[in-house]
Amino acid sequence: MIRPTFAHVDLEALKSNFRAMTEYLATGARPEPPAIIAVVKANAYGHGAPRVALALEAAGARMVACADIEEGVLLREAGVRVPILIFGALSVSDLDGLFTHDLTPTISTPSAGRALQATAAARDRRLGCHLKIDTGMNRLGFRWDNLGRTLPELLASPNLRIAAVYTHFATADDPDSPLFAEQRLRFERVHDELAGLRIAGRLRHAANSAALLRDERVWYDFVRPGLLLYGVVPPPLATTMPLRPVMTIRSRVTAVKGLRIGEGLGYGVRFTADRPTTMAIVPAGYADGLDTRLANRGCVLLRGRRAPIVGSVCMDMIAIDVTDTDAEPGDEVVILGDQGNDRIDVREMAAIIGTIPYEVLCRVGARIERLYN
Ligand SMILES: *Cc1c(COP(=O)(O)O)cnc(C)c1O
Repeated sequence: MIRPTFAHVDLEALKSNFRAMTEYLATGARPEPPAIIAVVKANAYGHGAPRVALALEAAGARMVACADIEEGVLLREAGVRVPILIFGALSVSDLDGLFTHDLTPTISTPSAGRALQATAAARDRRLGCHLKIDTGMNRLGFRWDNLGRTLPELLASPNLRIAAVYTHFATADDPDSPLFAEQRLRFERVHDELAGLRIAGRLRHAANSAALLRDERVWYDFVRPGLLLYGVVPPPLATTMPLRPVMTIRSRVTAVKGLRIGEGLGYGVRFTADRPTTMAIVPAGYADGLDTRLANRGCVLLRGRRAPIVGSVCMDMIAIDVTDTDAEPGDEVVILGDQGNDRIDVREMAAIIGTIPYEVLCRVGARIERLYN
């Protein structure tokens, strides 16, 4: 049984986005274009990590990345075979999964390096890791300007093999911020310094979606896109890549009724009819991820036209004004996606409620069934 409100996840669009990006990366000056580490953390930005990761692997992703060991274990259980990089800080209790499920951890603090060395030694294993350098995000990572002191112990860990070195940009989506260029230069300096510490020639990666659009010089050996693969360009940037949105959310009208002039609607009576008004009820609310700030602001598509969301967003439903449309129960409603010649995309919805597209995608509710093609 499928509820009337569901998300369609277009795996063909996902693969097409992957191919578009591969072609784009091949236009760069590097003799060997960077490979793609496809980011599928947070249940693949709400799209469903198992199916998305398998589709990206089939499309040619050389590696996938997720936030923590638990997410990595789910990917392995789904049958993902390419290397799985764990971005997040490791908590000491869950290190077992690295070995039982063949995951690649990020070492982002000296103490994490010690814990991994001890665990790997106890199992008599040599563990491949990526080393994270903090070049100015000031979140996780070894400080770029203190490596002479912090790295020797890590490099002397006999059971750890540093396969790659990476960093993460704080302001790649802000063309006015000088920090983006500064972080790149710091990362270059780290590269030179690593040669002195006798770990030259490690693979390097740095670019999230925004960074890979902004500057070819940060492509290095791998790029780490998330949002772009889902067909959404990080605002305010633009791209010539022919990307297609991967997720659409649809529902159906469950009831149509009239309001007389002066009558109010819903919790808090946040809408009052100033003309004879026809309302349609759509069974999707904040429990499905529709932000309450869409009240009296957002729109959906119905019969190819925009119908405003009126009154409060409730837990399980919204009301839309269909006075100018002949709506009937059963009519298709598009909450995110195309209908007729119009489209409501993730960027538009995020802008309306004052957030970023990432949050809109990640908050699509667990109750909404994902249907794949
Ligand atoms: C989430 C994440 C990415 C991907 O970011 P997008 O903006 O979605 O491309 C890349 N690298 C790291 C470390 C991340 O946490």
